[in-house]
Parts: sequence; C-alpha cells; structure tokens
Amino acid sequence: MFKLPVCPYCHTIYRYNKVRKLNKKEKVQVCYHCKKEFKVKRLRGMVVLGAIVLILAVVTNLIILNNLNSLNLTPLLISTVAYVILGFIFVPFFIDFKKIKKTEQKLSNESKKKK
Ligand SMILES: [Zn+2]
Repeated sequence: MFKLPVCPYCHTIYRYNKVRKLNKKEKVQVCYHCKKEFKVKRLRGMVVLGAIVLILAVVTNLIILNNLNSLNLTPLLISTVAYVILGFIFVPFFIDFKKIKKTEQKLSNESKKKK
C-alpha cells in the first residue's frame, strides 16, 4: 500500500502526475520506457479509501455541527470539500499496472529470452 505503480515489465517508476493522467485515460497504456502494453487497474483498496474518507468527513461534520453556535454551513462545506480532495490525492497510490496476457506478447517475450 501507499506506493506508486511501476511498469510490470521493466519496473520503470511512474511519477504521481503521470499516474493521475493515466487513470483518467484508457485502461490500456504503453510504457514510455519499454513500449510494452499494460493494463491500468484500480485496486480494491480504493473502496476502503473511499469508505475511510467518507466516515472521517461525516464524523468531522458532526463535530463541527455540535460546536457550531450559529447556523453557518460554511465550515461543513469546507471540511467536506477538503476530504474529497484528500481522497482524490490518494487515488494514484491505489492504482496498479498489470501485464496483458496475450499469446503474441508471450511468444515475443519467449523469443527474446532465447536470444
Ligand atoms: Zn516498461
């Protein structure tokens, strides 16, 4: 957990911003280093991340509500937005790059190994 994904073939480390971009794009990507294709996959841990952020946001809002004297909803809004942003910041850490199982790729890999 809490590590950025690497290329499954050449283990090139992808920077945070790069992972963010890849997550928005198509699911199949080509490694900029070894030019091999891999799948961009979201980990199940992301659901847990979402749940934790949601619970924290609700708890924080309840605490704010209890301590709020006037009926001002701005602090609630700020805390909710802050948690949503926090959740999005951690998204790239829950992305993984998987090898694509193709007979073509397997064959090409095997022929390379023989050389
Ligand atoms: Zn690569």
